[in-house]
Amino acid sequence: MADKNKMTEMEYEPLVYDPQYILMVNQLKKYFPIKGGMVSRVVGQVKAVDGVTFNLKRGTTMGLVGESGCGKTTTGRTILRLAGEKTGGEVLFNGKEVYDLTNKEMRSMRTKMQIIFQDPFSSLSPRLPVAEIIGEAVREHNLVPKAEFNDYIDQVMDNCGLQPFHKDRYPHEFSGGQRQRICIARALALNPEFVVCDEPVSALDVSIQAQIINLLKDLQEQYKLTYLFISHDLSVVEHISDSVGVMYLGNLVEYGDTDDIFNNPLHPYTKALFSAIPVPDPKVKKNRIVLEGSIPSPANPPAGCKFHTRCPYCTERCKSEVPVQKEIEPGHYVVCHLYDK
Ligand code: SF4
Repeated sequence: MADKNKMTEMEYEPLVYDPQYILMVNQLKKYFPIKGGMVSRVVGQVKAVDGVTFNLKRGTTMGLVGESGCGKTTTGRTILRLAGEKTGGEVLFNGKEVYDLTNKEMRSMRTKMQIIFQDPFSSLSPRLPVAEIIGEAVREHNLVPKAEFNDYIDQVMDNCGLQPFHKDRYPHEFSGGQRQRICIARALALNPEFVVCDEPVSALDVSIQAQIINLLKDLQEQYKLTYLFISHDLSVVEHISDSVGVMYLGNLVEYGDTDDIFNNPLHPYTKALFSAIPVPDPKVKKNRIVLEGSIPSPANPPAGCKFHTRCPYCTERCKSEVPVQKEIEPGHYVVCHLYDK
């Protein structure tokens, strides 16, 4: 049986910056230590992100999908350097390694890379009025002259569908959808280039979800934004994304253009995941692929292909040999031995 530790420390080719990509991620890893015993020593590691590689084109949206606990959120936070030090790999934002920036450089980079959280209530300070929530960081970073500050906040609020009289109100006075608009306005006020949208609509009613998705799309066009859109809702991801990455147990198992991924899923996990998408036509019969077993622990992932314990096509080779990423059609990548030439 192959040595699991050796395989996770696989060498990789360093990235060469390509300006068409705002974000380039190469073999990104983020492990969290598990401590135990009397002296609290490290007894293991949770491999939340375990070698994620993708490139994101400027002004586009990449959807990141997968079951709960597969590492989607940690990937987004590790890219933004919000999860402490990375364990390995590279993150190039506009050609610069995010983890090589000094504190001062990172501070100004923060305005360019923003995040919108899932729960719009807990991510807003209950003690601050809306104008202060949106404008706090704008003032801190001196983004607009003092004399223009109020007009600037009015404009950002207006772009996000908020009225001027909302400025003096507090988060608890708003509905869930409006609170998410406040979160979006707070992120946009910093004039970012890249936004991680971490399940931005999953806490909202279905009727409100569409409004927020449309708002995000409009703002993307207006501000030329690039999104990494994390969601477990495949219909939403299909609607908003130009490309899609599918994660399983800390790895990206497939990624490519949205049409290619939805019309021609290749990885057995992607096929199973997508077979569960409901079709609004009673005449269409879907062959749902039900996966056996539950997702293994990222603290003790299976050797070889991490999906082998649930894969209907598993072979002996899959149990010991880690598959590598292959480009099957232009821009469509998969990590599975079934596609070895
Ligand atoms: Fe299944 Fe093997 Fe492909 Fe993994 S490598 S997804 S176990 S066929």
